[in-house]
Formats: sequence, structure tokens, C-alpha cells
Amino acid sequence: MNSNKIAIITGASTGIGKHISIKLAENNHNVILISRSKNKLVEVEKKIKSLGKNCQLIVGDISKESTIKNIFSQINEIKNIDVLINNAGIGIFNKIENISCKEWDKQLNTNLKGSFLMTRYIVPQMIKNKTGKIVFINSIAGINAYPYSSAYVASKFGLRGFSSSLREELREHNIKVISIHPGAVNTPFWNNVKADFPREQMLSSIDVASSIVNAVMAPNNVVQEEIVIRRTGGDF
Ligand code: NAP
Repeated sequence: MNSNKIAIITGASTGIGKHISIKLAENNHNVILISRSKNKLVEVEKKIKSLGKNCQLIVGDISKESTIKNIFSQINEIKNIDVLINNAGIGIFNKIENISCKEWDKQLNTNLKGSFLMTRYIVPQMIKNKTGKIVFINSIAGINAYPYSSAYVASKFGLRGFSSSLREELREHNIKVISIHPGAVNTPFWNNVKADFPREQMLSSIDVASSIVNAVMAPNNVVQEEIVIRRTGGDF
């Protein structure tokens, strides 16, 4: 990796994470991309490389600590990661009586434990470097509760609590913690969700990624702590 900034993005294969990765590359970042689907990551890598930036792919399931150990062993020579984007997430939407323990664990382990683990492993180097930016892609569902979404809402309310506490803990180390709360975004997230929201009226992942990268690029003494991004027409 050369002297550009370095960012690591989870869930970089599609949707919001893919476009954050491309936007960061357009703004002078080399990137490390993580998700479970190698073929989709390779497509994002092609785009990043066409922008003249370095790109490293790591395939794995971030809900497992063994994956996180593998990620950090693969990049242990990189001591100056500037940005972590905790983006990987899934949505399980159902009535409470139809949510199995397995689904509950998958929901919480991906959205909440995965973000905890990535953060846990990266913070020591950011503290040592006295700089860093940790971004959590939360949701409006981390602020407002909706029916038939209890597992998802629990994961995102939990993520808001985690990131808010972390923000206070890391201030003295000059590490910024940024929470992003988008409304509905037109991504593959919705492909298997039974909801009749009009996809074409949702936020676009490119627009959401632009707002997020603007927050990442803010001057050193500025942190945009919690950002709500809604379509102008409001929630569905
Ligand atoms: P998406 O297109 O489905 O992207 C989800 C990403 O997460 C994919 O890259 C997926 O890649 C990755 N991923 C999922 N589980 C993973 C795991 N266990 N390990 C590693 N990677 C995993 O959906 P999106 O809308 O861009 O979602 C990104 C984030 O935005 C999520 O946290 C979501 O909650 C949040 N969000 C979405 C919306 C919306 O309306 N779309 C609104 C608010 C917030 P692989 O399948 O290749 O692993």
C-alpha cells in the first residue's frame, strides 16, 4: 500500500458498502474490502483499480471471531488504517413468534457482534496512532422502532448504544466515531423482504455513500457524530 489513506470496509460487495468503497477510492483512499462473496468483491476491485488505487480483498463471515482474526492476520503489516466502515448487515423481518433462535443469533451476530469485533481488533492501532475514524452504518431503525422488525431494530438500537459509548471512550485518543442512520435505500437488502415499498423511490446507495464519505473527509477537528439521511419525501 502506498502513502494514500487506508480504509477497511465490511459488506463491500454490494449496495451501500460497495459505493462507499468506490467513493473512498475516488477520495484518495486505498481500500481493504470484506464480504462473504468473492465474485462480487472482484467486480468492486476492478472499479477501484481503474481509479488507480490499491485494493485488497478478504473473504469471510464477520459474525465469527475466527474470520476477524484471519482478517487482521492478513493485514498485520498495515499499521496505519485510517478508516473502518462497519457496514455489513442483514435484515430479518418477521412477527416475533416466527423468529427462530438461529435467526435471532444471525441477526445480532452480523449487525452487532461483527461491528464489535472489527472495532475491537482495530482500536489498538488507532489509539497508538492517535488518529482514526470508525463509521457505523446504522439505520433509522436504530432510532425509531417499527413492527415486525424486532430482531433488526434490536441489533440497530444495540449498535447505537455501542457506538455512542465508544465515542465517549475514544475522544481522548482523537478517534472519531460516526453513526449513519439512513432511511430505505435501494439495494439488494430488500430483495427478499416482503414489503411493498417502491424501490425506485428509495434513496440511492450512491447518494448515501456520498454523504457518508463527506463526513469521513471532514477536517480533523470536526466530527459529524450522528447523521440521519432520509429521502426528502420522508419515510414510507
Ligand atoms: P446489501 O446490499 O445487502 O449489502 C450488505 C453487505 O453486507 C453485502 O456486501 C454482504 O455481502 C455483507 N454481509 C452480510 N452479512 C455478512 C457477513 N456475515 N459477513 C460479511 N459480510 C456480510 O445491503 P445494504 O442496504 O447495502 O446494507 C448495508 C448496511 O446498511 C446494513 O448494515 C444495513 O442494515 C444498513 N441499512 C440499509 C438500509 C436499506 O434500506 N438498504 C437502510 C438503513 C441501513 P456478502 O453477502 O457478500 O457477504
